[in-house]
Order: sequence, then C-alpha cells, then structure tokens
Amino acid sequence: MDQNAEIYQDLDRILVTREKIAKKVKELGQKIAEDYAGKSPVMICILKGACVFFTDLIRETPLPLTTDFMAISSYGSATKTSGVVRILKDLDNDILGKDVIIVEDIVDTGITLNYLMKILIQRGAASLRIAALLDKTARRKVPDLKVDYVCFDIPDAFVVGYGLDYDQKYRNLPDIGILSPRIYGDK
Ligand code: 5GP
Repeated sequence: MDQNAEIYQDLDRILVTREKIAKKVKELGQKIAEDYAGKSPVMICILKGACVFFTDLIRETPLPLTTDFMAISSYGSATKTSGVVRILKDLDNDILGKDVIIVEDIVDTGITLNYLMKILIQRGAASLRIAALLDKTARRKVPDLKVDYVCFDIPDAFVVGYGLDYDQKYRNLPDIGILSPRIYGDK
C-alpha cells in the first residue's frame, strides 16, 4: 500500500512495519510448532482485531491444528476499556480436553483475556496459552495474567492497523501505526 495513502495521514507514525511483523509472525509460528510438536492444538481467533494476525500465524505454524473463532466486545468506538466483556459470538466446537491457544491482537489492561481464560478453563481445556501480537505491559491491571507468546511489546499509545481498528477503520493497513489523537479527540 502506498504509505502516502489517505489513511496513513491519520497516523502520528508507523510503529511496526509490515516487514518486521512478517518476520516475527514467522518466528512465532515456528516456536509454537516446536512447543506443540506431536499435538493438534485448537487456535482460537478473537474477532475482529486478531483476524489478520491469525490468518498469517496459522499459515506459519506447521502443525495439524484446527481453528475456531470467538467475538467479544471490548472497546466499541472509544479508546478506553470499559471493563465490561460480552461474548458476541461463541466457539463452534467443544474444547473439552483440547490444547487451546487463544490468539489475540493486543493485551492492554488484561481484563478481556483474564475473563476469557476463566471461561475456557471452565469448559475443560487440557491446556490454555495466549499468543498476542502486541503487549502494552505498562497498562496491565491483571498482574498475574501470563501472556505466553508476544510478538511486540509496545508503549502506551493507541495503535491501529494489521487488524486493529478505530471505529472499524484502519484494519486493512499492512503496518501498525500510532493513531493521531486528533482523530479520536478525548473520547
Ligand atoms: P484489555 O481488556 O486488555 O484492556 O483490552 C484488550 C482489547 O482492547 C484488545 O483486544 C483491543 O480490542 C482493545 N485495545 C487495547 N488497546 C488498543 C489499541 O491500542 N488499539 C486498538 N485498536 N485496540 C486496543
């Protein structure tokens, strides 16, 4: 994509380029394949933010894995977490006795994932790990949440691109960028 395209003008700057993303995603896929050798994990995409990361990651993970999808509400159109988590679309398949890997776009306060982990543990997953594209550790409110796989630790800024949105926009940017505060004001 032409970086002078209209949507790039809404960014303060590019934080992670598509080349860096591709390299890290490949490394992560290899690591997961090593850690789960001989197993068939279920990789769960948390919609919609993780969709781009997920489709790249599963193709870099040479395992007989299966996929499933779940949608939970987090931000709406504002940029601050509400702490309220709702399941909008549940998994299609049972995870009882399965090795589960949750694939999430970004861990911020950790409230969303903490909630999700509890639900999936109750459903009897044999094991449960988290793979996140981005981690804003500085903002964590659930200190004991263990994020097993992370591609990039990022500073406390609101980012978009590579699946992450603001008001459903910017998901199609191939890079990850810091959204200019003039776009979201003080919502
Ligand atoms: P948490 O519950 O960890 O505070 O929030 C996690 C969710 O908030 C993510 O799955 C994502 O949807 C949203 N989120 C947190 N930080 C950002 C950000 O910088 N950009 C975007 N687009 N979404 C974010």
